[in-house]
Amino acid sequence: MVPKAEIAKQPSITRSVFPWSIAIHGGYLESEHSNMPDDLEMAYRAGLRNALSLGANILDGDGPSLDAVETVIKALEDDPLFNAGRGAAFTAQAGHELDASIMDGATLKAGAVLGVTRTRHPISLARKVFEASSYVMMAGEGADAFGSACGLEQVNPHFFSTQAQWQVLVDRFAAQGRLLPIRPTNIRPTMPQNSGVTGHSHSGTVGAVALDKMGHVSAGTSTGGMTGKTWGRIGDSPVIGAGTYASNRSCAISCTGSGEHFIRLSVARTICGLVENKGICLQAAMDEVIHRQLVDIGGQGGAIALTSGGEVAWSYSSNGLFRGRMSEGRPPLIAIFKNEP
Ligand code: ASP
Repeated sequence: MVPKAEIAKQPSITRSVFPWSIAIHGGYLESEHSNMPDDLEMAYRAGLRNALSLGANILDGDGPSLDAVETVIKALEDDPLFNAGRGAAFTAQAGHELDASIMDGATLKAGAVLGVTRTRHPISLARKVFEASSYVMMAGEGADAFGSACGLEQVNPHFFSTQAQWQVLVDRFAAQGRLLPIRPTNIRPTMPQNSGVTGHSHSGTVGAVALDKMGHVSAGTSTGGMTGKTWGRIGDSPVIGAGTYASNRSCAISCTGSGEHFIRLSVARTICGLVENKGICLQAAMDEVIHRQLVDIGGQGGAIALTSGGEVAWSYSSNGLFRGRMSEGRPPLIAIFKNEP
C-alpha cells in the first residue's frame, strides 16, 4: 500500500488525456524548387526542425499550447532566414515594420501588434497585449513603448537587417524601376554565406499552431510583411480572423500569403467556421478556402491548422510551404516542396 505522505506527493488527477500536436510554417514559396541552393535548403530545414523541437518539448512536458506557439515563433523570429524579427523584409524606406498576433483557443483571448520597430520579439509583445492590457491590437511606437514598459527586450532597428533581405529589396526595386533608399550601415551577412534569398521567392512569414495535453489549442503568426511596403501597409498576419485564429470549438490556424486577399476572406475564421458550423473536416475546409475561394479572387498562399480533436492539416496554393509537424509518439515531419508529404 502506498503511504499517505507519498500519495500527497503524487501529481494531481487533472492530468492530461489528450495526445499533443504541433504544426509550424515559415512562409510560402512562389518560385520553382530548382532555384534554391542546396545549402540554403538545408539551413531552412534545420531552422524549422529546431523551432519544431522547442515547441514539441514544451507540449511533451505538459506545457500549455500558448507557450509552445510563442516559443516556436520566438526562435523563428531570431532566425535570420525567415521574414520575422531578425531577417525581416525591408520597407521602401529601408526600415522594418513588424506585425504579429497570437490567440488562445481556450479563452478566445487574442493580442496583436502592427508596425513595431524596436521590440525584439513581436510575438511576445502580442501576447502581452492581452495578458497585460484590456486591448486586442496596438500599433507602432505606442506598442513598442508598451513592450518596453512590460520589460520586453528593445533593440536598435538595424538588429533586424540582413544582407539577404537587402538584396531582395535591391532586386525588387530594380525590376520595378523604383528608386532605392540609402543602404543602412551595419547590415548583417546572412548564413549560409553567399546564398541569398534572391534566387527564389520565399515570403518567410512564420507561424505555429499547437494542441496541448489539456486539449487546448493556440495559434500565432509573425512577419516583416511585404518587401518594399509603403504608407504603413499592414497585411493579414496581425489581423485576428484573417492571418490567425484559435478556438477549442473548431481549430487553430496560422496563414501566410498575399495578405490583402486573406483579409478580404477572413481566411482563418472562415476555415474555423466551416469546421465548427458545417461539420466539415479540417483538410476539406482548408482546401475549400485556400484552393478555391482564395484563388477565385487572385490570392496565393497557404495555412497550417489543427483541431482540438487532434486533426492536423496544411493546405497551400503556392509552389511550396515551409512547414513542419509533430504529434505525440510520432516522428517530426519537415517539408518545403509540393512533392513532399
Ligand atoms: N501574409 C503576409 C503579409 O501579407 C506575408 C506573408 O505571409 O508572406 O504581410
